[in-house]
Amino acid sequence: MPRDEVHAIVGVVVLIPVLYLAWERLSSSDVLLFTLAYLFSLLWLSPDLDLDRGSRSMRRWGILAAIWIPYAKLMRHRGLSHSLVAGFVSRLAYLGVFLLPIILLTEHRLNLNLTTASVGVFILGMWVPHALHVLLDRLDEALGGRL
Ligand SMILES: [Zn+2]
Repeated sequence: MPRDEVHAIVGVVVLIPVLYLAWERLSSSDVLLFTLAYLFSLLWLSPDLDLDRGSRSMRRWGILAAIWIPYAKLMRHRGLSHSLVAGFVSRLAYLGVFLLPIILLTEHRLNLNLTTASVGVFILGMWVPHALHVLLDRLDEALGGRL
């Protein structure tokens, strides 16, 4: 398994050209939304939340890390949580269970007024670091754990 630092460095290195491309095609608010989603996913929503002995991503949640313990118990490391689509959806759905009541209670105060395009930008920003992580893990396996 590549160390967490390897995932973070590759994630930041990839983010730079992606932001350059995004800056030419998206509004500044969507670039900001993409960046925040990307960094949140990279640092707090790693597929390695499936490690039942904990991961750096889990420790970043602080006291809220407790919400990820059942997820880690349910998921086999590098199983479903490390698939390109289902792993990503599993963590969003799992987190949604905890966030949905908060969103519903504060919905009228947030007044987010998101467009479909912004939601797509947000989801893409969340998915790209996930895909990078999975591909890097697969590369590490192919190289015999040298990353
Ligand atoms: Zn991993």
